[in-house]
Amino acid sequence: MSRHASNPVLRPSLLGLNLEELTNLAVEAGQPSYRGQQLFDAVYRQRVETLDSISTLPAQYRTQLAEEGWRVGVPTVERKFVSNDGTVRYLIELADGETVETVWMPEGDGGERGDGSDAGEETERPSSGSAQNQEAWRRATICVSSQVGCAVNCKFCFTALLGVKRNLEAGEIVGQVVAVLRDQGVQPPMQRVNLVFMGMGEPFLNYDNFMKAVRLLAAGLSIPESRMTVSTAGIVPRIYDFGQEALRPKLAISLNGSNDALRGEVMPLNRKWNLEALMKAAREFPLRARERLTFEYVLLEGVNDSPEQAREVAELVRGVRVKVNLIALNPGAELPFHTPAEEQVVAFQKILVAAGIPTFVRRPRGRDIFAACGQLKRTVEIAPAP
Ligand code: SAH
Repeated sequence: MSRHASNPVLRPSLLGLNLEELTNLAVEAGQPSYRGQQLFDAVYRQRVETLDSISTLPAQYRTQLAEEGWRVGVPTVERKFVSNDGTVRYLIELADGETVETVWMPEGDGGERGDGSDAGEETERPSSGSAQNQEAWRRATICVSSQVGCAVNCKFCFTALLGVKRNLEAGEIVGQVVAVLRDQGVQPPMQRVNLVFMGMGEPFLNYDNFMKAVRLLAAGLSIPESRMTVSTAGIVPRIYDFGQEALRPKLAISLNGSNDALRGEVMPLNRKWNLEALMKAAREFPLRARERLTFEYVLLEGVNDSPEQAREVAELVRGVRVKVNLIALNPGAELPFHTPAEEQVVAFQKILVAAGIPTFVRRPRGRDIFAACGQLKRTVEIAPAP
């Protein structure tokens, strides 16, 4: 199986295998093929922690799996940071000791409700009392990582400072969600959960594993793909591939610059896929009924936040069914940029809104624990807290 080949140190994990692969596994072991479905249900629906707790399987087959080296393979929560806004940042340890971060946002991320009804409530504050919890549930969002580190090198992002160590396996992507749901005691689909693939890494540089994870999360964990959003820095060929997928999350593209000179400065990958290529892919992207493409735009003071640049953005996205999420930079001493003032952000938003583009300002989530966009892993590897 490919995961052994790619990572011989790891004991093989059931998490990450789809129904067909689990069925083959069972049949090769001389078991009836329906054991595949039993394994699938145990791993993804019941989300068992150990082989031993797969009570639908005969004890002898459980022992055999263990002897062959199989494990369920849910990654472990190594550390947990809780923000005063309710956001929880999980440091998740993988089987080879590498770590990634996954973020639980009880009220969503302030810019994506993930259910297609986005508009209008981004600046709303939750009310107090039990109604708040009820409402919070309906908006909970998990921000999922796709790689250990990142290779894209955006100048305003902390993850870029780590470089890329490796791709995550599909099971490690699904495993982050399983670990967080377990810790939060949440059971989809009874309790609604949105997923955003906006954590560490560039999902479209780990495309096959990412897409396999999406299919497992939809089929196994019952999280509909309509409640998932993937964000790409703009890996243009994969945007075309993604448009052809029968089952796919919604698409967000990190824009962050209104012309090639500017975007190339903050996102060097623009030199490989410039705005003309990116916007062509965006215009040709096969949107579904009522679906919009999201453009994310990190505002950097005095760099890309002027009224003129707002008008350039409006011009750029003209003719594409989009919405724009503005994110004021989540700052840090290691970054050569500053956060613009609130008025500057609002002025930028107004210009886009006046041009007929639905534009929202994302509230930063968990900034105090460095769980906000671009900050993941900062305290662990870049600037460890005392
Ligand atoms: N690689 C993907 C997904 C991860 S980044 C991508 O580039 O889209 C998720 C979002 O966080 C992107 O829109 C990115 O532009 C934004 N981001 C990165 N660093 C940030 C920072 N320091 N402050 C605010 N947003 C940031």
